[in-house]
Amino acid sequence: MKKRGLIERLNQGPVICAEGFLFEIEKRGYMASGEFVPMVSLENPEALLNLHRDFQHAGSDIVQAFTYNGHREKMRVIGKEELLEPLNRAALQIAKDVATSPMGKEENLMAGNISNSNIWKQDDKKSQLEVEKMFREMVGWAVDEGADILIGETFYYAEEAYTALKVMKETGLPSVITIAPYGENIMRDEISILDTCKKLEQLGGDVVGMNCHRGPNTMMPYLKEVRKELKCHIAGLPITYRTTIDHPTFFNLPDNNGCSCHSPHETTFPTALDPMQCNRYEIKQFAKEAYDLGINYLGVCCGATPMLIREVAEAVGLKVPASKYRENMENHYMFGKNKRIPKHIKDYRKKA
Ligand SMILES: [Zn+2]
Repeated sequence: MKKRGLIERLNQGPVICAEGFLFEIEKRGYMASGEFVPMVSLENPEALLNLHRDFQHAGSDIVQAFTYNGHREKMRVIGKEELLEPLNRAALQIAKDVATSPMGKEENLMAGNISNSNIWKQDDKKSQLEVEKMFREMVGWAVDEGADILIGETFYYAEEAYTALKVMKETGLPSVITIAPYGENIMRDEISILDTCKKLEQLGGDVVGMNCHRGPNTMMPYLKEVRKELKCHIAGLPITYRTTIDHPTFFNLPDNNGCSCHSPHETTFPTALDPMQCNRYEIKQFAKEAYDLGINYLGVCCGATPMLIREVAEAVGLKVPASKYRENMENHYMFGKNKRIPKHIKDYRKKA
């Protein structure tokens, strides 16, 4: 089967993209939380390959190279700048391997990835040029390793997102650009979420939208606005935590679920968010609502698991390899309706 491009796929229906590699690789034991450097592509490549395969099995159409935070500045912070290029190339090659050996008939799309640099400073040309250089070298490696598309994500400065898009557009590859405003509900350079997205569309973003920082509840209102105002394809990839109007992002989300032992660093982010996790039905509901609005590029970011990616895919009508193992309570030993389940076991369920 001929591999379709991103825009062709989006014109025909939903496209699923699993993100959230940082949290999931950390949970699987291959990354230090807080520091969050994706050394996994060099140090435990099979662990990264397995996660990509699990997301692919769950229905991700895009295999996004795990280079989030794998940029020159972060490598300087940990004193391993010399590993920058090998890390990027290894992550891209692993993603390419997975994308070109699909579980269905059609190959997946391999995505190169750039993201928030955390050194961008408003009105500071020097920092901005430095960031642009970091983007350009990473995008260059992605093109070199055969990326089908480019994803720029998690930007909280509008101007940084514009710069990322400019660098991605130079390659001629389809470009996805998503922003992640903080709790003030505005970009840090004081441009509104909607205006930032409008500008990204004007600058040629093929897919524009939001990822990370916000759960379904506090991302959806903005996605609705953006979908209404823009003509291009829209992306929605929330985190999987129950953010609220008072705490629109996961950074200051308090534990409201009976915590008896707090994290040693004041916030539940990033290591004690578990009790605020959305359940699969909430994620499924988000995906369905977004798709019904005309948002075709869907996924989840931090907190993503293969199970949740399957829920997103199924919410928009797709059948994926992992659909074989979807919920089947029918045969549960106590809650199931299967007639072989003994009555005395079923009858006890309210006391279980
Ligand atoms: Zn995220």
